[in-house]
Amino acid sequence: MGLLNQSEKLETQVKYQRLVQKFKLLRERYNVILNERRRLAKQLVTNPDSGLPNGVVMQTQLHEILKRDDRPKALCFLKLNEIFNLVRRTFSSKIPEWILYQTGVRIQSVIENRGKVYHTRDDEFLIVLFDISDSATFNQTLQRLVRDTEKSHVLGGYNISIRVNLGVALYPRDGDTKSEILRSTDIALSVAVRQQVSVFTFTPSLRMEQMERIEIQNGLLQALQSASDLKHSQFQMYYQPQVELLDPETGKFRVTGAEALIRWKHPSMGFLSPGKFVPIAEETGLIVPLGAWILRRSLQELGEWQKIGLSSLQMGINLSTRQFTQEDIIHDTIRLCKRLGIPHHNVKLEITEGALMQNVAESAKKIENLLRMGFHIMLDDFGTGYSSLSYLRTLAISIIKIDKSFVDDLPGEVNSAAPVRAIIGMARQMKKGIIVEGVERWEQVKWLYENGCRVFQGYYFSKPLPAEDFHKFALGNQG
Ligand code: C2E
Ligand code: CA
Ligand code: CA
Repeated sequence: MGLLNQSEKLETQVKYQRLVQKFKLLRERYNVILNERRRLAKQLVTNPDSGLPNGVVMQTQLHEILKRDDRPKALCFLKLNEIFNLVRRTFSSKIPEWILYQTGVRIQSVIENRGKVYHTRDDEFLIVLFDISDSATFNQTLQRLVRDTEKSHVLGGYNISIRVNLGVALYPRDGDTKSEILRSTDIALSVAVRQQVSVFTFTPSLRMEQMERIEIQNGLLQALQSASDLKHSQFQMYYQPQVELLDPETGKFRVTGAEALIRWKHPSMGFLSPGKFVPIAEETGLIVPLGAWILRRSLQELGEWQKIGLSSLQMGINLSTRQFTQEDIIHDTIRLCKRLGIPHHNVKLEITEGALMQNVAESAKKIENLLRMGFHIMLDDFGTGYSSLSYLRTLAISIIKIDKSFVDDLPGEVNSAAPVRAIIGMARQMKKGIIVEGVERWEQVKWLYENGCRVFQGYYFSKPLPAEDFHKFALGNQG
């Protein structure tokens, strides 16, 4: 009996212990779930890297902050530049997380309790400054934000410097509702990024500009869709004659080539200059299909002129930075020339220093390939960039195009004449071809001729012409 009692007791004890165990396990599980729920709830309101309130919180709080009192306020979007994305792609997540955390801390210590900071996007913070009535303090704050967030991050043996862009809009001047002021700040940021300046403050005219940009962008898309239908195409190529002066006494010249220049007739905005839409096409990537259209159209037209007696004519085609850095540009040009029966030496590709700068080694290879295939490579706007001279030395450019800005003041005094003389002398020594653009007056042509130039392009000889007019002009001036 005693024995049975003992075993019953033992059994109950074991049962009890099992229950305790089970309870413990349940409690642990419950805690895990609770913690996870807490973590998720926090994530909804804070950014996990910086620990700062995120964009969702900003959206719910901003209205209240703006309307709290009637002191003038400022909104600033602060964006880390593309080096940050490079860091993210290159290193483990710990390093970018640390950079974001530090950036948040640095912003916070600049604004202290004079504002509020949100981590709205991965590489973007929004700073609200509560009172900017003292403009000196406000400007100082902006400068300190840039200076402190750009200080290098030293970690794990690395020293990483990241630049920032700040887009600033003032409340209520640049928008008196939450969405309007946010939009203005965003526009200011996009300009800061585009112009690569540290701080850009919104101006009312920007809104119009931005709307115009959007209209141009949409218009470009539409125009491209119908560009292959030449009858209804909004684009048209114009050709500006390039001439060789044969006799400076009589002014007799012959047309040796053309520069293809695009023209766009926008259905509602009217005629738009390429200076206005080519940069937008470049930024949005639409330059790739547009450039393909330009290349095809101008080579088609050259093919037609060659069949009717202008066989030595050379066509100059502008390649934008993005086009030139595209991989298949060489193949596309070769394929087109083959299909249209155009010898490669009749094609001159005009590139600018900006395009070469993207990747000098890659550019050098591309240029050599193109030259080997028989094309001419022309360095456009020569002398306007920072390092035209060094490119001339290292890259196998065949022709340089002296920019209009050098020609404007000619003949003039020594200040305007000396640089042009130097460029001509150097190009001749290096056996590069020279063409001078933007000549508008006879004195300029005469001076340039006397100093060794033979080939010209400019209003003095002719403005850019529609295909048919160019053809007539070229036939009438064959030397
Ligand atoms: P750019 O390549 O420097 O083209 C020369 C510009 O100077 C042209 O302006 C031309 O009309 C103008 N010009 C020529 N001679 C004179 C002159 O004697 N006086 C004055 N005041 N101007 C003269 P346009 O056609 O407005 O083109 C502006 C820019 O747009 C071009 O500069 C080029 O960068 C770009 N662009 C034009 N067409 C194309 C194109 O088909 N493709 C690409 N990628 N860019 C183009
Ligand atoms: Ca050009
Ligand atoms: Ca030019």
